[in-house]
Amino acid sequence: TAFTNPPLDPVLLENIAYARYTTPTPVQKYSIPIVAESRDLMACAQTGSGKTGGFLFPILSASFTNGPRAPPAEAQHGGYGRARKAYPTALVLAPTRELVSQIHEEARKFCYRSWVRPAVVYGGADINQQLRQIERGCDMLSATPGRLVDLIERGRISLANIRYLVLDEADRMLDMGFEPQIRRIVQGEDMPGVSDRQTLMFSATFPRDIQVLARDFMKDYVFLSV
Ligand code: AMP
Repeated sequence: TAFTNPPLDPVLLENIAYARYTTPTPVQKYSIPIVAESRDLMACAQTGSGKTGGFLFPILSASFTNGPRAPPAEAQHGGYGRARKAYPTALVLAPTRELVSQIHEEARKFCYRSWVRPAVVYGGADINQQLRQIERGCDMLSATPGRLVDLIERGRISLANIRYLVLDEADRMLDMGFEPQIRRIVQGEDMPGVSDRQTLMFSATFPRDIQVLARDFMKDYVFLSV
Protein backbone atom coordinates (compact mmCIF):
# COMPACT_ATOMS: atom_id res chain seq x y z
CA THR A 1 0.00 0.00 0.00
CA ALA A 2 0.98 3.61 -0.50
CA PHE A 3 1.92 6.27 2.05
CA THR A 4 -1.53 6.39 3.68
CA ASN A 5 -0.88 5.58 7.35
CA PRO A 6 -1.17 8.27 8.52
CA PRO A 7 -2.10 10.39 5.49
CA LEU A 8 0.84 12.62 4.55
CA ASP A 9 0.63 16.25 3.43
CA PRO A 10 -0.58 16.46 -0.22
CA VAL A 11 2.46 18.46 -1.38
CA LEU A 12 4.78 15.84 0.11
CA LEU A 13 2.75 13.03 -1.48
CA GLU A 14 3.20 14.67 -4.89
CA ASN A 15 6.97 14.87 -4.34
CA ILE A 16 7.07 11.23 -3.20
CA ALA A 17 5.14 10.18 -6.31
CA TYR A 18 7.50 12.22 -8.48
CA ALA A 19 10.44 10.34 -6.90
CA ARG A 20 8.61 7.11 -7.90
CA TYR A 21 8.40 5.76 -4.38
CA THR A 22 5.19 3.72 -4.43
CA THR A 23 5.46 1.71 -1.21
CA PRO A 24 7.05 2.54 2.16
CA THR A 25 10.05 0.38 3.11
CA PRO A 26 9.67 -1.49 6.45
CA VAL A 27 11.47 1.20 8.47
CA GLN A 28 9.26 3.87 6.86
CA LYS A 29 6.10 1.83 7.46
CA TYR A 30 6.80 1.69 11.21
CA SER A 31 8.57 5.01 11.83
CA ILE A 32 6.12 7.33 10.04
CA PRO A 33 3.13 6.65 12.36
CA ILE A 34 5.36 6.69 15.47
CA VAL A 35 6.85 10.09 14.59
CA ALA A 36 3.42 11.41 13.53
CA GLU A 37 2.16 10.59 17.03
CA SER A 38 4.83 12.94 18.45
CA ARG A 39 6.81 10.10 20.03
CA ASP A 40 10.59 10.01 20.33
CA LEU A 41 12.15 7.12 18.42
CA MET A 42 15.25 4.94 18.65
CA ALA A 43 15.48 3.00 15.39
CA CYS A 44 18.05 0.33 14.58
CA ALA A 45 18.25 0.31 10.79
CA GLN A 46 20.99 -0.15 8.20
CA THR A 47 21.98 2.10 5.33
CA GLY A 48 19.84 1.14 2.32
CA SER A 49 16.76 0.48 4.47
CA GLY A 50 15.13 3.77 3.49
CA LYS A 51 15.76 5.29 6.94
CA THR A 52 16.22 8.77 5.44
CA GLY A 53 12.60 8.77 4.28
CA GLY A 54 11.71 7.24 7.64
CA PHE A 55 12.57 10.50 9.36
CA LEU A 56 12.17 13.04 6.53
CA PHE A 57 8.61 12.08 5.57
CA PRO A 58 6.89 12.49 8.94
CA ILE A 59 8.92 15.63 9.78
CA LEU A 60 8.27 17.28 6.42
CA SER A 61 4.61 16.27 6.36
CA ALA A 62 3.92 17.92 9.72
CA SER A 63 6.10 20.92 8.82
CA PHE A 64 4.31 21.54 5.49
CA THR A 65 0.91 21.26 7.15
CA ASN A 66 1.73 23.38 10.20
CA GLY A 67 3.58 26.13 8.33
CA PRO A 68 6.57 28.15 9.53
CA ARG A 69 7.02 28.91 13.21
CA ALA A 70 7.32 32.50 14.39
CA PRO A 71 10.98 33.41 14.94
CA PRO A 72 12.00 33.71 18.61
CA ALA A 73 12.08 37.15 20.23
CA GLU A 74 15.87 37.37 20.00
CA ALA A 75 15.61 37.23 16.18
CA GLN A 76 13.89 40.64 16.16
CA HIS A 77 17.06 42.36 17.34
CA GLY A 78 19.09 41.66 14.20
CA GLY A 79 19.96 45.31 13.67
CA TYR A 80 21.43 47.09 10.68
CA GLY A 81 24.57 45.58 9.19
CA ARG A 82 24.59 42.58 11.45
CA ALA A 83 25.00 39.17 9.86
CA ARG A 84 21.75 37.27 9.66
CA LYS A 85 21.29 34.32 11.97
CA ALA A 86 19.50 31.16 10.86
CA TYR A 87 16.80 29.50 13.00
CA PRO A 88 16.25 25.99 11.61
CA THR A 89 13.18 24.11 12.88
CA ALA A 90 14.59 20.67 12.01
CA LEU A 91 18.18 19.50 12.50
CA VAL A 92 19.73 16.27 11.22
CA LEU A 93 23.19 15.37 12.54
CA ALA A 94 25.20 12.75 10.65
CA PRO A 95 28.88 11.70 10.70
CA THR A 96 30.23 12.49 7.24
CA ARG A 97 30.12 14.99 4.41
CA GLU A 98 28.85 12.23 2.09
CA LEU A 99 26.00 11.29 4.40
CA VAL A 100 24.81 14.86 5.15
CA SER A 101 24.98 15.63 1.43
CA GLN A 102 22.80 12.60 0.63
CA ILE A 103 20.29 13.57 3.31
CA HIS A 104 20.25 17.14 1.97
CA GLU A 105 19.62 15.92 -1.60
CA GLU A 106 16.66 13.86 -0.36
CA ALA A 107 15.39 16.87 1.62
CA ARG A 108 15.66 19.09 -1.49
CA LYS A 109 13.70 16.58 -3.55
CA PHE A 110 10.89 16.25 -1.00
CA CYS A 111 10.71 19.96 -0.02
CA TYR A 112 9.95 20.99 -3.60
CA ARG A 113 7.01 23.43 -3.78
CA SER A 114 6.81 23.78 0.01
CA TRP A 115 7.84 26.62 2.35
CA VAL A 116 10.65 24.50 3.86
CA ARG A 117 14.15 25.48 2.68
CA PRO A 118 16.80 22.82 3.26
CA ALA A 119 20.48 23.59 3.88
CA VAL A 120 23.63 21.54 4.49
CA VAL A 121 26.92 22.27 6.30
CA TYR A 122 29.96 20.04 6.80
CA GLY A 123 33.60 20.39 7.74
CA GLY A 124 36.56 20.55 5.37
CA ALA A 125 34.82 22.89 2.92
CA ASP A 126 34.65 26.68 2.47
CA ILE A 127 32.62 28.09 5.37
CA ASN A 128 31.81 31.38 3.60
CA GLN A 129 30.02 29.59 0.82
CA GLN A 130 28.03 27.63 3.40
CA LEU A 131 27.18 30.87 5.23
CA ARG A 132 25.81 32.37 2.01
CA GLN A 133 23.76 29.23 1.47
CA ILE A 134 22.20 29.24 4.95
CA GLU A 135 21.34 32.93 4.54
CA ARG A 136 19.17 31.94 1.59
CA GLY A 137 17.12 29.69 3.86
CA CYS A 138 17.79 27.14 6.54
CA ASP A 139 14.60 25.52 7.83
CA MET A 140 15.79 21.91 7.64
CA LEU A 141 19.52 21.73 8.34
CA SER A 142 21.69 18.66 7.72
CA ALA A 143 25.06 19.03 9.48
CA THR A 144 28.19 17.28 10.65
CA PRO A 145 28.69 17.99 14.37
CA GLY A 146 32.03 19.87 14.26
CA ARG A 147 31.02 22.38 11.58
CA LEU A 148 27.69 23.01 13.29
CA VAL A 149 29.44 23.82 16.61
CA ASP A 150 31.65 26.27 14.70
CA LEU A 151 28.64 28.04 13.13
CA ILE A 152 26.82 28.22 16.49
CA GLU A 153 29.93 29.73 18.10
CA ARG A 154 30.15 32.29 15.29
CA GLY A 155 26.56 33.27 16.12
CA ARG A 156 25.28 32.34 12.66
CA ILE A 157 22.96 29.50 13.63
CA SER A 158 20.62 29.33 16.62
CA LEU A 159 18.91 26.13 17.70
CA ALA A 160 16.25 27.99 19.70
CA ASN A 161 13.56 27.11 17.12
CA ILE A 162 14.28 23.38 16.81
CA ARG A 163 11.19 21.19 16.84
CA TYR A 164 12.76 18.05 15.36
CA LEU A 165 16.21 16.68 16.14
CA VAL A 166 17.56 13.63 14.29
CA LEU A 167 20.82 11.80 15.04
CA ASP A 168 21.54 9.63 12.02
CA GLU A 169 24.14 6.85 12.17
CA ALA A 170 24.63 7.65 15.84
CA ASP A 171 27.00 4.71 16.37
CA ARG A 172 29.30 5.95 13.61
CA MET A 173 29.28 9.47 15.06
CA LEU A 174 30.47 8.07 18.39
CA ASP A 175 33.09 5.87 16.66
CA MET A 176 34.42 9.01 14.97
CA GLY A 177 34.79 10.79 18.32
CA PHE A 178 31.94 13.30 17.90
CA GLU A 179 30.37 12.76 21.33
CA PRO A 180 31.66 16.05 22.85
CA GLN A 181 30.34 18.07 19.87
CA ILE A 182 27.03 16.19 19.90
CA ARG A 183 26.56 16.86 23.60
CA ARG A 184 27.46 20.50 23.09
CA ILE A 185 24.75 20.77 20.43
CA VAL A 186 22.00 18.70 22.04
CA GLN A 187 22.61 19.83 25.63
CA GLY A 188 23.65 23.38 24.72
CA GLU A 189 21.74 26.33 26.12
CA ASP A 190 19.77 27.34 23.02
CA MET A 191 18.47 23.83 22.16
CA PRO A 192 14.88 23.36 23.39
CA GLY A 193 14.62 20.79 26.20
CA VAL A 194 13.63 17.18 25.67
CA SER A 195 9.91 17.91 26.24
CA ASP A 196 9.91 20.86 23.80
CA ARG A 197 11.30 18.97 20.82
CA GLN A 198 10.94 15.58 19.19
CA THR A 199 14.11 13.48 19.04
CA LEU A 200 14.80 10.60 16.65
CA MET A 201 17.92 8.46 16.74
CA PHE A 202 19.01 6.02 14.04
CA SER A 203 21.84 3.59 14.56
CA ALA A 204 22.91 0.29 12.99
CA THR A 205 23.81 -1.07 16.43
CA PHE A 206 22.59 -0.44 19.98
CA PRO A 207 25.62 -0.77 22.27
CA ARG A 208 25.92 0.65 25.78
CA ASP A 209 27.14 4.13 24.72
CA ILE A 210 24.18 4.56 22.33
CA GLN A 211 21.80 3.46 25.08
CA VAL A 212 23.28 6.18 27.29
CA LEU A 213 22.81 8.85 24.58
CA ALA A 214 19.24 7.65 24.02
CA ARG A 215 18.52 7.97 27.74
CA ASP A 216 20.12 11.43 27.93
CA PHE A 217 18.49 12.89 24.78
CA MET A 218 15.01 11.37 24.65
CA LYS A 219 11.80 11.00 26.65
CA ASP A 220 10.15 7.54 26.89
CA TYR A 221 11.12 6.65 23.36
CA VAL A 222 9.79 3.90 21.13
CA PHE A 223 12.41 1.30 20.21
CA LEU A 224 12.22 0.02 16.64
CA SER A 225 14.45 -2.64 15.10
CA VAL A 226 14.05 -3.54 11.43
P1 AMP B 1 18.48 5.16 2.68
O1 AMP B 1 18.54 3.88 3.47
O2 AMP B 1 17.59 6.17 3.31
O3 AMP B 1 19.83 5.67 2.35
O4 AMP B 1 17.76 4.80 1.27
C1 AMP B 1 18.31 3.85 0.39
C2 AMP B 1 17.79 4.03 -1.05
O5 AMP B 1 16.44 3.62 -1.19
C3 AMP B 1 17.87 5.46 -1.55
O6 AMP B 1 18.40 5.46 -2.85
C4 AMP B 1 16.41 5.92 -1.58
O7 AMP B 1 16.21 6.87 -2.60
C5 AMP B 1 15.66 4.63 -1.85
N1 AMP B 1 14.33 4.61 -1.22
C6 AMP B 1 14.02 4.99 0.03
N2 AMP B 1 12.72 4.79 0.31
C7 AMP B 1 12.16 4.27 -0.80
C8 AMP B 1 10.83 3.84 -1.15
N3 AMP B 1 9.83 3.92 -0.27
N4 AMP B 1 10.62 3.36 -2.40
C9 AMP B 1 11.64 3.28 -3.28
N5 AMP B 1 12.92 3.66 -3.02
C10 AMP B 1 13.20 4.15 -1.80
